[in-house]
Amino acid sequence: MTVSPPAFHIMTKPRGAICNLDCDYCYFLSKEHLYPGSSFRMSTDVLEAFTQQYIEAQRVPEVTFSWQGGEPTLMGLDFFRQAIVFQQQYKKPGMVINNAIQTNGTLLDDEWCAFFHEQNFLVGISLDGPPDLHNVYRHDKGGRPTHTRVMQGIRLLQKHRVAFNVLTCVQAANAPYPLDVYRFLRDEVGAQFIQLIPIVERDNTTGYQEGAAVTERSVTGKAYGDFLIGVFDEWVRRDVGRVFVQIFDIALAAWSDNRPGLCVFEETCGLAMALEHNGDLYACDHFVEPNHYLGNLLEVPVVDMAVSGHQRQFGLAKRDTLPQMCRECEVQFVCHGGCPKNRILTTPDGEPGLNYLCDGYKAFFSHIDHPMQVMTAELHNRRPPANVMLILARKEAERRRLFENVGRNDPCPCGSGLKYKHCCGKKRR
Ligand code: SF4
Ligand code: SF4
Repeated sequence: MTVSPPAFHIMTKPRGAICNLDCDYCYFLSKEHLYPGSSFRMSTDVLEAFTQQYIEAQRVPEVTFSWQGGEPTLMGLDFFRQAIVFQQQYKKPGMVINNAIQTNGTLLDDEWCAFFHEQNFLVGISLDGPPDLHNVYRHDKGGRPTHTRVMQGIRLLQKHRVAFNVLTCVQAANAPYPLDVYRFLRDEVGAQFIQLIPIVERDNTTGYQEGAAVTERSVTGKAYGDFLIGVFDEWVRRDVGRVFVQIFDIALAAWSDNRPGLCVFEETCGLAMALEHNGDLYACDHFVEPNHYLGNLLEVPVVDMAVSGHQRQFGLAKRDTLPQMCRECEVQFVCHGGCPKNRILTTPDGEPGLNYLCDGYKAFFSHIDHPMQVMTAELHNRRPPANVMLILARKEAERRRLFENVGRNDPCPCGSGLKYKHCCGKKRR
């Protein structure tokens, strides 16, 4: 008998791929063709069966329902009111139920936001930075920009004191401007929780993870690494403990020997599936395609699909197909080769399966090593990791003082044994 994992996660798409917007790089809009003629609305029967099976399968005290799309608010509020009713009906004694919804924010009004506040929803808002960077790819079906409408949604969430995070896609247009994006999110939006998700979009006609070509909208590995470094250098000097950037938290977890909490940086995956509007379950949100179809929950319980041979193999392949280059990489402990959906490169010695973002991951994770070590040491000593800001500021002041009056022919203050003009002085020039 196969033992089920204590917990697994399902991302639910009650409206399938249907959305009121038409963002150029959306990976899900094309899934509409999987269900020709469908209403793309989750029925009450599917919602109830899912709620019951999902709760029943979890052997942990806390369960999170994640609603996504397409645009899930297109289901209307009554659908979510019904979802809460089923959750209360089927929850186990003492169990805590959470709800998270990912939305483009353009359809929110006072009623939605009051509901989110009352039911304690965590709302994820997709926003790619200031208007000129956001509007490049994120527009509606008529090609009109969406930034103003997204910001109106955010202001409503704030008015109703709804917890929200911002999901920013890092793509070709905004990647060169890390500080403009980050400062906008921090200072103009007032975002405290930020995700910086790389856009790596396959250039094919199927919409599946096929072929090795990527679109021009995709961010390159180097550009993604530079973007993360740009944001990190600002964050680590002034925002630690008050702004939370998901990939920085993941890094700190890895440096301090904890689990990352995001499948992309886990050694194996397979515990985060995707549910379509009609009850069809797929291996992952990024693999909603026939090859990774697990079954329909009206016919097979979700727990059986979660432990099926296909799904276990899917999750283990992340580790088992890792190229030797990754196995020997010094940042493998945090990177784990990244998400399999992006493993489309070949290593210099000809092995397939290298992540398209490898350059960026390597540069970023190497760049943050020292501050991460400082934060980890603070944590081990039961002090706040935010102390890193003070420690770095002191070090930088000390360094400035050392270099202040150094002459070209003096020994370099960095301790290399070289003359200043042949060492740090040369770099500065
Ligand atoms: S394929 Fe990627 S996104 Fe999907 S579960 Fe695995 S790591 Fe996560
Ligand atoms: S940085 Fe590159 S080589 Fe290292 S583990 Fe990540 S993908 Fe592999």
